Amino acid sequence: MLKLKTTFLALALAGAATMATGLSATAQDKATVGISMPTKSSARWIDDGNNMVKVLKERGYNTDLQYAEDDIPNQLSQVENMVTKGAKALVIAAIDGTTLSDVLKQAKAKGITVIAYDRLIRGTPNVDYYATFDNFQVGVLQAESLVQGLGLKDGKGPFNIELFGGSPDDNNAYFFYNGAMSVLKPYIDSGKLVVVSGQMGMDKVATLRWDGATAQARMDNLLSAYYGNKKVNAVLSPYDGLSIGIISSLKGVGYGSADQPMPVISGQDAEVPSIKAMLRGDQYSTIFKDTRDLAKVTADMVDAALAGKQVTVNDSKTYENGVKTVPSYLLKPVVVYKDNWEKTLVDSGYYKKSQFQ
Ligand code: BGC
Repeated sequence: MLKLKTTFLALALAGAATMATGLSATAQDKATVGISMPTKSSARWIDDGNNMVKVLKERGYNTDLQYAEDDIPNQLSQVENMVTKGAKALVIAAIDGTTLSDVLKQAKAKGITVIAYDRLIRGTPNVDYYATFDNFQVGVLQAESLVQGLGLKDGKGPFNIELFGGSPDDNNAYFFYNGAMSVLKPYIDSGKLVVVSGQMGMDKVATLRWDGATAQARMDNLLSAYYGNKKVNAVLSPYDGLSIGIISSLKGVGYGSADQPMPVISGQDAEVPSIKAMLRGDQYSTIFKDTRDLAKVTADMVDAALAGKQVTVNDSKTYENGVKTVPSYLLKPVVVYKDNWEKTLVDSGYYKKSQFQ
């Protein structure tokens, strides 16, 4: 009798422990979520993938995480595979937002929930939700940091500036550029900022696949064609990986010395090498987008959608994908400078201080 009771108690305790962790009890029952990420060549996407897996596993899901190394057919076949293998939800950060229509049609036919992750999927009705940051605001913050770095509000200027855009197949690139131009245009119109090359508009300044080497080559060309006897004072760069290329190009012709200081340069993603560049004085600002929060918001969407509950969104008007307006959740980007990087990135636990020593 006593033995029986003890066994019962042990079982009950084990059951309670399992329920408390919520893990082993549900892992087998819960669905698989396919996570399709664009590339491992940028640390942010590695963080995104890891964070998504962590949050979904904590909630008892199985995950299938794939990276497509910026190759469109590769991403397509990875997503097709996820559909075939029975994923119940897909979380996709598209390389090219317009290339997934066919596979998403198959996904919809199988009742799979499709969430566009950070980048909008365009040209299809078969995308259910969009989890991202306020992309227009990213551009605003980038441009405001240039305005601040140059001292334009104190009446300084005129200054020479060159503009870089992101990948033309990524919807975000237009939001970043338009956000930035909403701040810069008045200064350009009044002559306080001069785009010496005259190259403006995404058709002229875009950088295919967000490639740093492409940005470096364009900066080389701009410097040799337009800056023989002039100095560039600011560069709008939408992404840390492009800023690295732009900085190399500038250093190659002698910028970064006392008589030829680095221009004020923006960035995005708060990647470790670029924070280091900021601490050296090569880059002026970057934008931090906490991928832990994005993973959480996305996992909330998965949970609610699969349970047939209302999915929480906070924007139902901005992200028109050519076919429908995709209900979205926008998180807030944060601008990072030399004087707030530690508080923003280390105190928040996103990075360890030792990564910068
Ligand atoms: C993301 C940015 C990133 C860029 C390049 C964009 O879609 O929103 O955070 O810098 O892609 O990877």
